[in-house]
Amino acid sequence: ALTAGIVGLPNVGKSTLFNAITKAGAEAANYPFATIDPNVGMVEVPDERLNKLTELIKPKKTVPTTFEFTDIAGIVKGASRGEGLGNKFLANIREVDAIIHVVRAFDDENVMRENNREDAFIDPMADIETINLELILADLESVNKRYARVEKVARTAKDKDAVAEFNVLKKLKPVLEDGKSARTIDFDEDEIKVLKSLFLLTSKPVLYVANVSEDEVGEPDNIEYVKQIREFAATENAEVAVISARVEEEISELEDDEKAEFLEAIGLKESGVDMLTRAAYHLLGLATYFTAGEKEVRAWTFKRGMKAPQMAGIIHTDFEKGFIRAVTMSYDDLLKYGSEKAVREAGRLREEGKEYVGQDGDIMEFRFNV
Ligand code: GDP
Repeated sequence: ALTAGIVGLPNVGKSTLFNAITKAGAEAANYPFATIDPNVGMVEVPDERLNKLTELIKPKKTVPTTFEFTDIAGIVKGASRGEGLGNKFLANIREVDAIIHVVRAFDDENVMRENNREDAFIDPMADIETINLELILADLESVNKRYARVEKVARTAKDKDAVAEFNVLKKLKPVLEDGKSARTIDFDEDEIKVLKSLFLLTSKPVLYVANVSEDEVGEPDNIEYVKQIREFAATENAEVAVISARVEEEISELEDDEKAEFLEAIGLKESGVDMLTRAAYHLLGLATYFTAGEKEVRAWTFKRGMKAPQMAGIIHTDFEKGFIRAVTMSYDDLLKYGSEKAVREAGRLREEGKEYVGQDGDIMEFRFNV
């Protein structure tokens, strides 16, 4: 499964947020085959459509789809110089599909800014730079290595792949040298293929999470730190979310009905964990399809662009191997007509084959050989 890694300097609120994620976590009984890794927090993906389908079909059981956050351990500073735990930090980031970069944007004189700083003044932009610089330096090292190796082949042998790679490296090098992330560059489709093969850190999608004070989280637009972070994120095709880790910690300890009341009182529509989950889902290009029967209504995560057999494979590899077709309707049609029978009568029930590209909100029933 795709995962988003939570990074940040010490004392920005990462553990507080990760604890809230773990506590808000998915109901284990629903996902018996999920692996238990202490660094992974699995949450259910909030989806209003699943509630509507449950009301309509009244199944015995409803199962949301899940998303995994990974807590990235290790030391940030000096990481790119390969110092002990710093190495681990970079290696852990390399394994995740997107980065959730937590930035301190709350004033609190009781919380030091960093382990080794005596002031509590906060500077979100400097903090962002500190982490990004380590990632940029690590990428620059990878790029320089490849550059030296590929340059000659590209120049002399006229090897097509080498030329393509060299062109991408030529674009990357000056940008990284300038202290900017690879994601600030616009690449075309072919270049993106090359880029992926380089496994860089700064080309991964990023969501900056401004951790703001509990008193301000209801009105994030007024927070100067948030404005700064948003401005910076816009320059590198990154997204921004605003949460208060402390509030999330409190929410994670409440029952559902208390939760709604609490959120309303502080001026929020949903919890920060729910919002982050949706944002990360979006960041990774994920979408949801449903299976809907009397026994169970269930949401499944797939990657946008996937075809029907691969989507079937998410439920079970046998479904993919023996795939025949997918009986498909859209969520909107099912809600509009009220039953599968009515959807069929309206001529809106589709038989989709191997080449069908799944759409967010598809309701599917797979036919397969065993
Ligand atoms: P980490 O080192 O990034 O994991 O940071 P922690 O989660 O341990 O948080 C560091 C300190 O900041 C702790 O004392 C937290 O209680 C405090 N903290 C975290 N989030 C907030 C917040 O939203 N508001 C305030 N006032 N303090 C927070």
